[in-house]
Amino acid sequence: MSLIDSHVHLNDRRFQDDIGAVINSAHKAGVSHMINVGSNIATSKLAVKQSHQFKGLSAAVGIHPHHADTYNRKSIKEIEALLSDKKVVAWGEIGLDYHYDFSPRQQQMKAFTGQLELIARHKVPVIIHNRESHRDMLRTLTDWKGSITGVMHCYSGSAEMARSFLDLGYYISIAGPVTFKNARKLLDVVKYVPLESLLIETDCPYLTPVPYRGKRNEPAYVVETARKIAEIKGLDFETVARQTTENAIKLFKLGKIDA
Ligand SMILES: [Zn+2]
Ligand SMILES: [Zn+2]
Repeated sequence: MSLIDSHVHLNDRRFQDDIGAVINSAHKAGVSHMINVGSNIATSKLAVKQSHQFKGLSAAVGIHPHHADTYNRKSIKEIEALLSDKKVVAWGEIGLDYHYDFSPRQQQMKAFTGQLELIARHKVPVIIHNRESHRDMLRTLTDWKGSITGVMHCYSGSAEMARSFLDLGYYISIAGPVTFKNARKLLDVVKYVPLESLLIETDCPYLTPVPYRGKRNEPAYVVETARKIAEIKGLDFETVARQTTENAIKLFKLGKIDA
């Protein structure tokens, strides 16, 4: 059995003291590969550096909507430069966040569409962050239909909305909240989305799944999310593990990467 955690932040300072041990316990739990995701210049650079230091890591680079104020010609050149590293498999995470609104929405949109333009040019998959911004998100991604695909990370929308993103060619990634008691909407999403279009993730150190709530989240816990998906879909764990791993390999072209 082998799982891929499609979205981790091992570049977060909460892992700085024990990242090696965290990766080891992931491998022991059957999580063979992780995509280490950046959210600004510093964390993107660190994600790339760590992907060379540790086995089973790839990197994604980009400017998160929380950091949209750092989006400018210089920072975007730095992100573009990181793309040439063979460990970088995606651009992200980028998108819109109308829940926190840490950056003005206009600035978020500017950073988002500016990066999408480059993504279309470089033909890399995108990792999308989308929080309470479904309508603007769908409209924007529809503009790029056919030239950009990727994954809706930590999906939190409805099943109906998932249909629209599937139609645009996106994968839907399920995170720890699917294990929470109040996960009704997400259960419908998991039932609805074909296994061939699902990815799994922890988004660690955030969103720790049951039964580890209250602890720092880590990639080993993605097993709980896979288990829950198997339960919801009435499939065995192996089937969910195999197919979500295949999906991640296909999207991020991980074929040649040490897993
Ligand atoms: Zn996110
Ligand atoms: Zn994230």
